[in-house]
Amino acid sequence: MNGLDRYQAGLAGLQLPDEWHVDVAIRPRRRSVGIEVKPGGAVTVLIPPTADPNQVARFVRSRRRWITEKVDTAARLAPDHSVKALVDGDEFDLLGRRYRLQFVAEQPAGIGQLPAATADRILYARAESPEQVRRAIIDWYRTAGLAWVKREGRQYELDGRIEGLRYEVRDLGRRRWGLYRGTPKHITALHWAVFGLPVHLAEYVLVHEQAHATRPGGRPHGPAWQRRMNLWMPDWQQRQAELAEVGRHCWLGDH
Ligand SMILES: [Zn+2]
Repeated sequence: MNGLDRYQAGLAGLQLPDEWHVDVAIRPRRRSVGIEVKPGGAVTVLIPPTADPNQVARFVRSRRRWITEKVDTAARLAPDHSVKALVDGDEFDLLGRRYRLQFVAEQPAGIGQLPAATADRILYARAESPEQVRRAIIDWYRTAGLAWVKREGRQYELDGRIEGLRYEVRDLGRRRWGLYRGTPKHITALHWAVFGLPVHLAEYVLVHEQAHATRPGGRPHGPAWQRRMNLWMPDWQQRQAELAEVGRHCWLGDH
């Protein structure tokens, strides 16, 4: 038996649920046993090189309830983002309105630069390669999102005495909806995909970052920041929870 086998044999005796996909990993720098639950729910037991297999098994058994809870949460909140084929008829939500994609060879009369959204909820886009269409639609989100964020962000600048704040709408990866960058940049940045969410969730992301931009004292999400949130958006915790659920299904540009 090699080192890992000894630990796996010890854990096998616990008859842990198969869906936990328990893995073991030796961590040379650790002094005590640890457990990690990844997004999606996979469990890894982190073991210092000198640990006794029986002791590791006892530790995992003692944390069984904790692991059950964590795996449940991780599986429930694992991202499951939608994928678009980028074909005629695809639907795109922008700030609470749903648009139907329609490809055109050239700009229809009376329609501005492509892609362009009309009052009757059609999103005209040039017939191009899926990658070009994807980029064009993301640009459409960015332009509309930036205009919205500048307009909606203003009331918080005034009320929170935030001066010289700048805004950005861009790709913030797959884990973040927004961020505030402190001085010297002093920028509130939102992910373009925020504007595909229901408006009250986009508002939450904006207000969250504007509250950071007032530079409250203490920890980043500590009491001073929370006081500001309670003042500006009394139901922010509810919206935050809803974002965790709704946000994991939204379109992040995958095709
Ligand atoms: Zn924050």
